[in-house]
Amino acid sequence: MNDEIMLNEGVELSRNFITEAIDEDLASGRFNKIITRFPPEPNGYLHIGHAKALCIDFSMAERYNGVCNLRYDDTNPAKEEVEYVDAIEEDIRWLGFNWAGKYYASDYFKQMYDYAVELIKKGKAYVCSLSADEITQTRGTLTTPGVECEERNRSVEENLELFERMKNGEFPDGSMTLRAKIDMASPNMNMRDPVMYRIKHVEHHHVGDEWCIYPMYDWAHGLEDSIEGVSHSMCSLEYEDHRPLYDWFLNELNIYHPRQIEFARLNINYVVLSKRKLIQLVKEGYVRGWDDPRMPTLRGLRRRGYTPTAVKNFINMVGVSKVNSVVDYAMLEHALRDEANKKALRVMAVLDPIKLVIDNYPEGKFEYLEADNNPEDENAGKREVPFSRELYIEREDFMAVPEKKFFRLAPGREVRLKHAYYVTCTGYETDENGNVTVVHCNYDPASRGGWSEDGRKVKATLHWVSAQHALEAEVRLYGRLFTVENPDSAEGSFLDYLNKDSLEIIEKAYVEPSLADAKQGVSYQFLRLGYFCLDDDAVKENRLVFNRSVALKDSK
Ligand code: ATP
Ligand code: MG
Repeated sequence: MNDEIMLNEGVELSRNFITEAIDEDLASGRFNKIITRFPPEPNGYLHIGHAKALCIDFSMAERYNGVCNLRYDDTNPAKEEVEYVDAIEEDIRWLGFNWAGKYYASDYFKQMYDYAVELIKKGKAYVCSLSADEITQTRGTLTTPGVECEERNRSVEENLELFERMKNGEFPDGSMTLRAKIDMASPNMNMRDPVMYRIKHVEHHHVGDEWCIYPMYDWAHGLEDSIEGVSHSMCSLEYEDHRPLYDWFLNELNIYHPRQIEFARLNINYVVLSKRKLIQLVKEGYVRGWDDPRMPTLRGLRRRGYTPTAVKNFINMVGVSKVNSVVDYAMLEHALRDEANKKALRVMAVLDPIKLVIDNYPEGKFEYLEADNNPEDENAGKREVPFSRELYIEREDFMAVPEKKFFRLAPGREVRLKHAYYVTCTGYETDENGNVTVVHCNYDPASRGGWSEDGRKVKATLHWVSAQHALEAEVRLYGRLFTVENPDSAEGSFLDYLNKDSLEIIEKAYVEPSLADAKQGVSYQFLRLGYFCLDDDAVKENRLVFNRSVALKDSK
């Protein structure tokens, strides 16, 4: 077997403790077919953390010639919606994964109910009328045992009758639960008679109003895995303490028993990855939607210009471990930049324009200059860029009185215009406030293409666009959404740490005319400015709108 796992397009997830566990299980004969599952709860959009789980679930199946199923862990109807179900499927497909079967936990509600009846009959579950608060209060602490509820010793017949009446809708929400009868003194709090069912008179997005009792995660998850014949049930580390319960239920029922393996959740600094918080950002209008390019959702990343390969490369860089850690946001950007550098088409755009007039260039004349589309890729070809007497350059590329270490354009100084000519600054004009409005230059016709025959050197190369040929575009620049590394654990609300300047909109930038037919899904390097992609709004509104995916260099 290979040491590397191929995840489409050459993305690889290295050997790790999960592959070791699976190897062990195959060798011992505990399992002979590998079946994994990705089990989202349809209560929000998928984010980059889910991408990690997806990569693990799908790559393990692929590595061992098994299958990975998609299963909706839809046991909590109050927060779940069909909108999310559809989005989840779109996002998984976008990442390039294909599930074998598609299942809904809610389709097993009857089977789960029957299993619960079986446990009651075995004297391993009982109906309890304590309120949620009372259950918490009587659970005890890490140092003191819990208190057994009096109803714990009710007869099997009574429990069966009450449970059936719970199911039939005879009791109001919150009035009763079904609890597993395990051990109120267990050192593992999860084993202290956990709740298996609660009453909720709520319609379910998939099974309608058929049920008014709904199973709890710990009870349901192992059953779902078992019913589907999952061999390895990978989940994040916070479920490690729940594994004894997962195993207890399956052992008591004596049914097919998958193996749960936990891995560290993905955390990224300056980012929140909880669906609840992401929902809040959207619903309260702090961002422009689920696909806002600042969001760590898969659709946010896509709109920002991330490709599936960049996302998977990132996950691969992070690796699979059993220890929680926080990944630097710069690593995510690195994955994007690394791929974009290989593929992006190089073009010129000016975000903060100032006029540059070449006084010795004939008025009315223009010419086309040849430019490489991508020097990193010899097959990318060349294009023609129009040049004329009046250009736009970046305002910050000129200084009337140059500072030390400023090597770009200044009076008397010669620089190269990329792909074009050497130009020497002969003067400038200002408005009544002293702001520079126009810069004047002369060009050296012999330096066509940006090279001088006499070998004289210039210290700077500027990008530019021809004023009469340039197209107007809106350009959106993004900063981090949060101002602190860990908004989740900072004092107060995570919303207190929102970066008010995370979106900068440049309403009128100038871009070279080749971008008239810019396409979605293509990365463009605006020379010296970063990697950009066409925003969805461009297609919707039929105008040019670009997002900066990432700057050229790490800002740190
Ligand atoms: P959230 O806390 O954001 O609501 P969740 O864990 O409740 O996330 P689910 O829909 O239950 O979200 O997750 C589906 C799968 O994705 C689970 O296996 C879960 O462990 C995994 N997952 C969710 N978030 C992360 C993360 N940040 N890193 C790795 N895996 C994750
Ligand atoms: Mg969950």
